[in-house]
Amino acid sequence: MRQSSLVVVANRLPLDDNVAPDGACEWRRSPGGLAGALHAILEQTPATWVGWDGSIGEARRLPDIGTLRLRPVALTDDELRGYYEGFANSTLWPLYHDAVEQPVFDRGWWETYRSVNRRFAEAAAEVAEPGATVWIQDYHLQLVPQLLRELRPDVMIGFFLHVPFPPPELFMQLPRRVELLRGMLGADLVGFQRPQAAHNVAQLAAKLLDVHGADDAIHLDGRIVRTGAFPVSIDVAEMRSLSARPYVLNQARQVRHDLGSHKRMLLSVDRLDYTKGIEHRLTAYSELLRDGKVKVRDTVMVQVAVPSRERVENYRGLRDRIEREVGRINGEYGRVGEPAIHYLNQPFDRADLAALYQAADVMVVTPLRDGMNLVAKEFVAARRDNSGALVLSEFAGAAAELGDAFLVNPHDVDGLKETLLQALAATPRDLATRMKSMRGYLTTHDIHAWARAYLTELEPAHSLFR
Ligand code: UDP
Repeated sequence: MRQSSLVVVANRLPLDDNVAPDGACEWRRSPGGLAGALHAILEQTPATWVGWDGSIGEARRLPDIGTLRLRPVALTDDELRGYYEGFANSTLWPLYHDAVEQPVFDRGWWETYRSVNRRFAEAAAEVAEPGATVWIQDYHLQLVPQLLRELRPDVMIGFFLHVPFPPPELFMQLPRRVELLRGMLGADLVGFQRPQAAHNVAQLAAKLLDVHGADDAIHLDGRIVRTGAFPVSIDVAEMRSLSARPYVLNQARQVRHDLGSHKRMLLSVDRLDYTKGIEHRLTAYSELLRDGKVKVRDTVMVQVAVPSRERVENYRGLRDRIEREVGRINGEYGRVGEPAIHYLNQPFDRADLAALYQAADVMVVTPLRDGMNLVAKEFVAARRDNSGALVLSEFAGAAAELGDAFLVNPHDVDGLKETLLQALAATPRDLATRMKSMRGYLTTHDIHAWARAYLTELEPAHSLFR
């Protein structure tokens, strides 16, 4: 078995679902921030990525992608249900997002989650060379740090949680809270999106494990576990150059033309997930139409809602509700050839997204809770001419960094309506001031800066940054 000095462990491998007949495969740009987030750094560093390849049953043999080796982890259909759809996405996901949907506690799922986490830990242990750095990603694999430490005490272990870490009152609901906390604290460095998460973990460590916990370090089993905030970002340079391509510029013009060139365009791009506040946004827009504050004649909404986790009950219900509501709004307020909402339940590639970002007047991002929200950052990076408004939920991690957006509490529908109107009415000068400052911030806080900050903190002598 070939071993690497850097190992990334994530639920999914970052490759396309379709491996070409000649065995070649391309970077996967799935609707989900992680693959994109690590893409840039892994292109330059010889490393192994451990993850599920998306198929059921036997793991496929996969070729390297450039310098990156792939180590697939196989899952059965039962495991997919218990580990991924069950414990990760029906227990942890809702609980970590403020329980905006009721988390399901199913005792069978836990066993599967633990055994699949063990398999990931074993795979990482196999491909890590002596003294390697192993970087474990996200809530699917929260037990892996501790399991890996038991197998390979010689390696340096990092864990990064892309989603929020909940306040203690919510975490305390988890039937397996002690194991989950201990699992995560098996790492040498635990990274979060926001400082509040590290504070929550320190409080829980004191309460559940009876150990000393500060917001940047926890003393556990004779070790020090460092914790801290490392807000994730995007490949700003990539989005900038993408948005300057002739194809993208043409596409943006075409979109404007197709919608009606004189109209103002509101845009939202989300995975179809109940954390994204899509229903709150539709309510606000529909009430603005009802109140006559906006007119279909001169304003239109484009909602991209990418299909997501469709085997999970809650997600099917959400899709039904949203589609019914879009139908109602279009039925009530649309005109012949002029729907109030263009609803697109399909994934877009990066170039087409860049075109949509450039075509929009107002980008509306209203999650009820979101670890970061990369779409908000992508929109800013795509606005080369400093035009356009970003309406952004206070409950997205991105709000802590993009303070020049029109910040909003999406639960407050009246406030949301007011903010949408404000964004629509803002002067080009005001918008340019805001956009410039957000773009300036992103230039120095891109994906490279994120990975560098995390890996340097994990291991100051890491060869990548020597
Ligand atoms: N995305 C995409 N195609 C789409 C919609 C979204 O590639 O049709 C990408 C988008 O560019 C972003 C990611 O999916 O990079 C979504 O990340 P975000 O943090 O906004 O939300 P998540 O889906 O991770 O909760």
